[in-house]
Amino acid sequence: MSRTFSIIKPDATRRNLTGQINAVIEGAGLRIVAQRRIRMTREQAEQFYGVHKERPFFGELVAQMTSEPVVVQVLEGENAVPKYREIMGATNPENAAEGTIRKLFALNVGENSVHGSDSDENAAIEIAQFFSDDQIVG
Ligand code: GDP
Repeated sequence: MSRTFSIIKPDATRRNLTGQINAVIEGAGLRIVAQRRIRMTREQAEQFYGVHKERPFFGELVAQMTSEPVVVQVLEGENAVPKYREIMGATNPENAAEGTIRKLFALNVGENSVHGSDSDENAAIEIAQFFSDDQIVG
């Protein structure tokens, strides 16, 4: 069993898609072991996406992530990181496979409905940014 960190992004919460996205997650065999709806602060978004701070879309990305509430989650399952990346689909929904969350729901490369960690190491860092151990109930 392993864990990954997920965010249901503002474009999805705005369109009331939290339940539909959770249904895809659970249908793929991942268990939602922690979940909280928050409004991300500018500082949180800048820290979270710090690796992208030199990219031209960084300002837009931080603005989007703080524009409306997000749902932060911890997902647990076998090979949780690669499994969630697979069901999320490609970053740009135009390239996302059929049945993936981004193919089903994303609007464009910026408003692409979900985040998922890209490695076990980053999953641990991202989970710790938003959850304490006692808030995760596996
Ligand atoms: P991910 O791991 O699939 O989310 O993709 P990345 O780590 O490459 O990028 C992080 C996030 O930055 C993406 O999910 C998008 O929300 C955003 N992003 C990436 N590329 C672009 C882009 O070209 N334009 C805009 N507006 N946002 C982008």
